[in-house]
Amino acid sequence: MAQSMKKLACQVLNKTNNVEVILNSTALRANSHWWSNVQMGPPDVILGITEAYKRDTDPKKVNLGVGAYRDDDGKPFVLPSVKKAEEILHQKGLNHEYAPIAGETAYTDLVAQLAFGENSQVLKDKTNCTVQTLSGTGALRLGLEFVTKHYAKNKEIWLPTPTWGNHPQICNTLGLSHKKYRYYDPNTHGFDVKGAIEDISKIPEGSIILLHACAHNPTGVDPKPADWAQLSGVIKEKKLFPFFDMAYQGFATGDVDNDAAAVRLFVKEGHQVMLAQSFAKNMGLYGERAGALTFLCGDPESAAKVMSQAKIMVRTMYSNPPLYGARLVTEILSNPQLKKQWLGDVKLMADRIISMRKQLRAGIEGAGNKQNWQHITDQIGMFCFTGLKPDQVERLTKDFHIYLTKDGRISVAGISSKNVNYVAEAMHKVTS
Ligand code: PMP
Repeated sequence: MAQSMKKLACQVLNKTNNVEVILNSTALRANSHWWSNVQMGPPDVILGITEAYKRDTDPKKVNLGVGAYRDDDGKPFVLPSVKKAEEILHQKGLNHEYAPIAGETAYTDLVAQLAFGENSQVLKDKTNCTVQTLSGTGALRLGLEFVTKHYAKNKEIWLPTPTWGNHPQICNTLGLSHKKYRYYDPNTHGFDVKGAIEDISKIPEGSIILLHACAHNPTGVDPKPADWAQLSGVIKEKKLFPFFDMAYQGFATGDVDNDAAAVRLFVKEGHQVMLAQSFAKNMGLYGERAGALTFLCGDPESAAKVMSQAKIMVRTMYSNPPLYGARLVTEILSNPQLKKQWLGDVKLMADRIISMRKQLRAGIEGAGNKQNWQHITDQIGMFCFTGLKPDQVERLTKDFHIYLTKDGRISVAGISSKNVNYVAEAMHKVTS
């Protein structure tokens, strides 16, 4: 009896094992199809241009696609003030412990002061919550994610037309509905103040409005001080929530205070803004990912609550931010001599870009081109929206090995005294 029970038990076990084997092999087959539903995504537009540029073997080739500063030899630029800060850091022999979740307060205090001003009342009153982020993109992502979780439900964000391509992409990723307000006027190649005010006055109360603080990407068109005053008025009247993206402080005029004027005006007029900052461009720290997100919260208690939630969000995304870039920024902003040197470095970069704008315009006009090219020198910052049509852009690339985005945007930082005449000549040829 015991024997036959044992035999029966064995049979059951075998059967169970067989089922298990079958189940396992089905699971294995399923394993090889984990990602079978994934669709091929489009390549990143800007990086795609750089790839095509790299493949081109023509010695005359020029890359005007990428938004990174280049020196007059077309080389990446390590700012002398940053080099100095690196030496100082090296001598300090620091360790590699974790940074706090929101970054070091030495860093966040200094970067908030750079944006809002050293005598900013909101900072003195401690009504701000500033968090170190993974550069400007990280600040936008954290800010918009915070909005989707903690701001009033079903609110929309309004973006300028056009805007940096990553703005709508981040919103799409977060399921945040985004709409457009008029910004660029293709006829004047300038700011469409009338269209913008008209559109903004129709935005539903409580919506979020995204504003480029300076050196608008992709157009290089910034509102004038009087336009900003008008924008602030209508945004206040409509009770909209302004989110400033300041990725180019110092790059527009060469002066960090001038370039923060719009943000400071809004704060002075009582707006509780949110601000994304980046040190990629103005310190040339592209790959170090030093940025910040500031929420102005009205009172210190709300600021503390917002900080607690922002920390939870950071903790569950990447735990804490990278140290090196933030240490360089802290070193530069806290050392008066080094800061002075850095302000000179920023001016040098901005001035070179302004000089290239002048030379490019002079070159096109000097070649006898009959179109109006004043916008090249009117526009500001790293980019110029040339007004070139897609077929003209295609010809520039095909016939002249000059690479740029289809919308006709060029990164003026990619132009140097060595290639400016060649680029001007080519632009003249494709437009006449
Ligand atoms: N905002 C705008 C408008 C930008 O042009 C950029 C850089 N291209 C960024 C934010 C963020 O850049 P990063 O993440 O490198 O700081």
